Amino acid sequence: MSTRDEFDKNTVEAIGKRASYICSNPDCKNLTLCPSAENEDKFIYIGKAAHITAAAEGGPRYDSNLTSEQRKSTNNGIFLCSNCADMIDKNNGIDFSVDQLKQWKKEHEEWATQNLNKSLNSLITTIDGEHTARGKGNVTGIKTTKPTFFKPGTKSTAEGEGNITATYIGS
Ligand SMILES: [Zn+2]
Repeated sequence: MSTRDEFDKNTVEAIGKRASYICSNPDCKNLTLCPSAENEDKFIYIGKAAHITAAAEGGPRYDSNLTSEQRKSTNNGIFLCSNCADMIDKNNGIDFSVDQLKQWKKEHEEWATQNLNKSLNSLITTIDGEHTARGKGNVTGIKTTKPTFFKPGTKSTAEGEGNITATYIGS
């Protein structure tokens, strides 16, 4: 069996923390930690420190030009949720290039840096209750420009003459 250049414990931890333990795939950004319901000392963790170029020869995106040290360095890791970590290695990695994963990592680390000490509430608009757009002409009931979470039970109706919009999401 060939040797694998696995990340050590400190490297895994650094890769996770540098990503705020949030998946670096821009289309995903899943949170990866929560408390265990059955054991108050434990937690559920679905994150992975994934190799950008494979830990062993023949693996996804393996780069023979890297030294063993480079291959197991923080620089060669990207933090992903378990699903995305599996996804990037399907078809032995041909669907996701090294450049693409490095871009994900760079942008995610910038995003994490910008959002340190900010509330998730500031990133997502929450709307609930009943809303009615009523009248003549151009009337919009709910207008939101940011990513929006509609609480279960939210109701939006429109009535009137002209260009009546119940809910509009956009800028
Ligand atoms: Zn993900």
